[in-house]
Amino acid sequence: MSAPPLDLRGDEAANLLSAVSTAALGTLDEVASSPATSVVGLEAFLRRDEVALFPPEAGGDLSALIETIRQAGRLGINTANGRALAYMPGSGLLSSAAAEMLAGVINAYTGVSATAPAMIAMERGVIRWMANVMGMPAGSGGLLSSGGSMSTISALACARHQHAAFKAERACLYVTDETHHCVAKAAFMLGLENRAVRKVATDDRLRMDPRRLKAMLAKDLADGFQPFCVVGNAGSTSTGAIDPLQELAAIARDHGLWFHVDAAYGGFFNLTSRGRVALSGIEKADSIVLDPHKSLFLPYGTGALLVREERTLRDAHSVDGGAYLRDLDGAGHDFADLSPELSRPNRGLSLWLPLHLHGIAAFRAALDEKLDLADRARTRLSTVDGIELHPGSDLSVIAFRAVARDSLVADEMTDRIVRHVNATGEIFLASTRLRGRVYGRVAVLGLRTSAAHVHRAVELIAQGAKIEREREAIA
Ligand SMILES: *Cc1c(COP(=O)(O)O)cnc(C)c1O
Repeated sequence: MSAPPLDLRGDEAANLLSAVSTAALGTLDEVASSPATSVVGLEAFLRRDEVALFPPEAGGDLSALIETIRQAGRLGINTANGRALAYMPGSGLLSSAAAEMLAGVINAYTGVSATAPAMIAMERGVIRWMANVMGMPAGSGGLLSSGGSMSTISALACARHQHAAFKAERACLYVTDETHHCVAKAAFMLGLENRAVRKVATDDRLRMDPRRLKAMLAKDLADGFQPFCVVGNAGSTSTGAIDPLQELAAIARDHGLWFHVDAAYGGFFNLTSRGRVALSGIEKADSIVLDPHKSLFLPYGTGALLVREERTLRDAHSVDGGAYLRDLDGAGHDFADLSPELSRPNRGLSLWLPLHLHGIAAFRAALDEKLDLADRARTRLSTVDGIELHPGSDLSVIAFRAVARDSLVADEMTDRIVRHVNATGEIFLASTRLRGRVYGRVAVLGLRTSAAHVHRAVELIAQGAKIEREREAIA
């Protein structure tokens, strides 16, 4: 069999698309019965020719190659089947994956507006909608990136740029122990020292203490440092903690600081009425990071950054130059002027199609369901003997810990409970540390995470806790 030509057309193109769509449908059929994680056959897989060797000179067989892709997809944590309640679960929304494929075939160039004005109008419509959901005013704007970490780099670049007479050696930004490490990473990449990232103490629910923030600001200013940014959590990764955004916004405003809100996980809960109450104050942010690949269920690769004034994004990201682009000059709204990227995928379509196809109500309902499931898990887990919940667990995350007289013993017991759950392959959990102590986490965010999955997770945690209690009794 001869290898297909590069530019597939007609029947050959149809065969490829049909093989891919069959594989996608097969993957969806497998979802319900597939384990939460698997490494069965991994060693053998890694030794296979088409994995270990360079690609062949002459090409290969499509169905065998697609089978290889499917097998690869079964190895590791299955993020699409709803059984992984670890980290921040993803989902792989089909309508978005389909839009991505179509976007790739059309291959519109969305770095500058002259090359794809219609596609860019559609992407900007999605961004305007997101800004509206977050309560940002007219004049706000932003862009789609590849994820929360990338968006955070641009957000801090804006914060830094807006600060007059910014000096890296003196600059400080304010976070908590619960702030995602992408903020420290962005600060590091922007040339700030470790010292610049100031950790403000939290209350018993792991929310930034505004009085401590004010005190730190006063001291840093008195010592000649240069505060430039306050970072608020709108749903921390470990526990879903939401900082007092209204108070932080007021303090930032009074001190002339940029107020950045990390809403990578929690932001889209603003679509729900419970979320809107919990996230009140997010609308005061100068910049907001969101992750559609978490809480809008998209496949990985779509983050977002919103800024209160789009001008600030442009100020921090545009430079003169690029003679090879002279024919495109002055064309209007260029995403390339708002981000480090020039060429970029047509990310707008991966949001535009799902939002217009399913409607906002479908996303709101799915997020409400995740909040309900988490509430139910919280209620059930709070009655399990030998387990305590962290009082800061918020939105759709629950942090739990074994109860023991000795804290180190409780750490070990908690680790063993998480391992007990994971060994079943039915549910996959991850753990974290909160103020130095180990906690297991149940993160309910997968589109396909159902009441049965959450119920089973609670049962398995209770089983693990019972084993630990018995072990304690013998010891
Ligand atoms: C996931 C996450 C990030 C990082 O986002 P990526 O898309 O993984 O780069 C930042 N902040 C919070 C709160 C997150 O949950």
